[in-house]
Amino acid sequence: MHLLYFTHLRLLKNLLLILPVSIILLGFSKSAGKTDPPLSQGEITLEKLEKMPKIDAHAHIYPLPDEEVAKFIPVLEKHNFSWITIATEGLRWHELKGQIDIAADLHARYPQRVAWITFFNLQNWGSPDWEKEAIRTIEEGFSKGALGVKVYKEIGMELKDPDGRFVMIDDPRFDPLFRYVGKKGKTVAAHIGEPRNCWLPFDSMTVEGDREYFRSHPKFHAYQHPEIPGYWAQIAARDHVLEKFPNLRIVGCHLGSLEFDVDEIARRLEKYPNFAVDMAGRVCHFQLQIREKVRNFMIKYQDRLLYGTDLMVGPYEGPFNIDKACANMDQVYHDDYRYFATDEEMESPDFPGKFRGLALHADVLKKIFHDNAVKWYPGL
Ligand SMILES: [Zn+2]
Repeated sequence: MHLLYFTHLRLLKNLLLILPVSIILLGFSKSAGKTDPPLSQGEITLEKLEKMPKIDAHAHIYPLPDEEVAKFIPVLEKHNFSWITIATEGLRWHELKGQIDIAADLHARYPQRVAWITFFNLQNWGSPDWEKEAIRTIEEGFSKGALGVKVYKEIGMELKDPDGRFVMIDDPRFDPLFRYVGKKGKTVAAHIGEPRNCWLPFDSMTVEGDREYFRSHPKFHAYQHPEIPGYWAQIAARDHVLEKFPNLRIVGCHLGSLEFDVDEIARRLEKYPNFAVDMAGRVCHFQLQIREKVRNFMIKYQDRLLYGTDLMVGPYEGPFNIDKACANMDQVYHDDYRYFATDEEMESPDFPGKFRGLALHADVLKKIFHDNAVKWYPGL
């Protein structure tokens, strides 16, 4: 028994001695440029991940002149990304129309690189024609290739009826829109509510990005506005829509506003088969949680998670610099490849301390970075 044990140990030791040599040999064959080194099962190099076709399922393009488009498209090509640009904010109808126009235009010119999601007017909320006009805008969007319709946090946090009451997303007046989107086989992208941090004072928020955002967007910092319905009221209203329309595909933007705990997301994914989530702007909240828990969650729900960034190009709330935006895109994508594909130790500007990458299997990465967007946004 003991002898056998030691024999095994010796075998293992020999194997460990051989391994580095084979790694050097593999490295040599790669640098010789003949064939790619065989990867162990599930492993993917960052170079391969960069070359693989990918979809950023949540990004924003604002009106962009042609000379800036000419700088932006090559970054998408370099990373082999297609963007789903999401038109946003019905209460700013004039700006929203500009987003719809640039999205439809770029989709027509670069169908392989730019897809889009439309929105509708909320500035005319309460007018007798509101519903008819909203459906007309959505219909026009679909005729120009829009993959779905977005609903935004302004519903639940800003939009009010004349009696001063906040309008929630499960208000029956939105039902005809959801029914219409479902009938057309399209998808709803729902950014309802905000990160839980939004209902907390600045010094209790978990990530720097949220602190920065709510400092510059105080109207959405619910902690400062006790009249805004609470965090769980927002989540419950969204969940109610999932329940009312079980055949309508709904992608919950920003981890469905349940970024602080993957268990909360898992609970909804179990309960609502019509629900998936994108990760736009919330990867740092994964990085804050226990690595093994997040990794198991991603493996278990590998068909329901869509990679997205919330990256923006074009002028939005202030001056815009295309070169800086392109450099930032490049950086965000490289950081995210490392986090999802390797187990390297990393740091984030969002919180102190270190965390390790998730080293997800290549098949899981392909779903998250590509296949799930195709599945949840048919027509892509
Ligand atoms: Zn967004």
